[in-house]
Amino acid sequence: MIRNFRLRLTAWYLAFFTLLLAVFGFLFYGMFSNAMRERLDETLRSEAATAAGLLADEITELHGDLPAAAAEAVEEMKFRTTTLVIYSGGRVLASSDTGRSRDLAEAVRLAGQSDLVEASGYGHRGARAAIRRVPVDGGEAIAVALEPLDALADEMRITRRILLFGFPLLIALAGLGGYAVATRSLAPLGWMARQAHEIGGESLHKRLEIGDAADELTTLAASFNELLARLDQSFETMRRFVADASHELRTPLSVIRGEADVALTRERSASEYKQSLAVILDESRRLSRLVDDLLNLARADSGHVKLRLEDLYLNDLVAECCRSARTAAEARNIALECACPGDVPFRGDEDLLRRMVTNLLENAIRHAPEGGRVEASVEAEPGAIRVQVSDNGPGIPPEEAARVFERFYRVDEARSRREGGFGLGLAIVKWIAEVHKGEAGVISKPGAGSTFFVTFRV
Ligand code: ADP
Repeated sequence: MIRNFRLRLTAWYLAFFTLLLAVFGFLFYGMFSNAMRERLDETLRSEAATAAGLLADEITELHGDLPAAAAEAVEEMKFRTTTLVIYSGGRVLASSDTGRSRDLAEAVRLAGQSDLVEASGYGHRGARAAIRRVPVDGGEAIAVALEPLDALADEMRITRRILLFGFPLLIALAGLGGYAVATRSLAPLGWMARQAHEIGGESLHKRLEIGDAADELTTLAASFNELLARLDQSFETMRRFVADASHELRTPLSVIRGEADVALTRERSASEYKQSLAVILDESRRLSRLVDDLLNLARADSGHVKLRLEDLYLNDLVAECCRSARTAAEARNIALECACPGDVPFRGDEDLLRRMVTNLLENAIRHAPEGGRVEASVEAEPGAIRVQVSDNGPGIPPEEAARVFERFYRVDEARSRREGGFGLGLAIVKWIAEVHKGEAGVISKPGAGSTFFVTFRV
């Protein structure tokens, strides 16, 4: 098996070319030798007819003297290339090749009525002869035009030699040409491979130069470039994620460290230690929430989330989430309503769905004004189930609405941080919606509250 692609292409091309050439050679040789024979027969027939005509004329002119008429007719045609023989009664009357005309006697006898015969005893390879009968007093005379087959055989031998020596030469030239064409056509591949080799994690922004390569290679390079663009984007997202995550981890960690440092600078009272430990506990809780969120998103990115699917009632799940959020809502004097009247069966991962609704409720409670209102509902429509959480908070400016589902994105960064947000809650909501073949969105008007919803297709 040839491993070199260029050589393999050339070998296939040569095999095909040789086959074509062999078929062509056989057909050409067969047709050429037939054509040569037909031309010879044609010439012989016409020469025999001319000789017969001449003989008839001479017989009339010489008042029936057949031997003299035969000699005259042969004399008149002596400059022709074919040999002319005139017989009568099994005897040669006249011949332009006196040495061998006797050889023809038997052949002419065998020819009977046929006008073309092979005269085997003539020359090395015999001869081809055309016969014309001329009626004479008391019998017939026969005019024979013949041509030795030696000349034809020589011509065919030369043709065979040309084919036998010419074809290998043609095949060798075709091989060289094919190899050169394959080398030239595949050169862009090598050049692209060298460029691709130089692209590493640090230079994913680079692209393959396509140049004037053939269409197929341009398509290959374009696909490769698209792949690079996707990789570049994934790398960029990952880099940003790691940078943002580290940034977020730094704040609670430095608060914990600072608090411990200050507490340990000197002896303190029990209540001061208690205060410091409370701060540290608070920040540790924040930290573990952040780590939880990061883990969830890392799982989402890995694409190998194993959903623990089970049959449940979404209305029950939302109602339970509302009950759990009640304490937080009451702390801010917010009226939390849950409109989940009928049973809405659904198949999904209960923990993830609970997380999704809780995130939406926590956001709504955090953003609704003191004494405000938050409403959660589940609605089953034909072909879809919609879970939504609305509040009468400040709303979201239209230009920010599409971005709030991005990771680490916060509309009011300072306020969000102060309230303990990392900008990951809605990114997790979006991911949970998507793994359940749903879609998350928000309808909001600044100053008139927001409605966050998730629509599942069923
Ligand atoms: P965070 O943990 O910071 O709240 P989220 O991903 O949950 O992060 O939300 C992203 C941003 O969207 C928040 O910083 C906030 O600015 C905005 N947001 C989320 N929910 C609401 C809401 N109910 N009303 C107004 N703004 C909201």
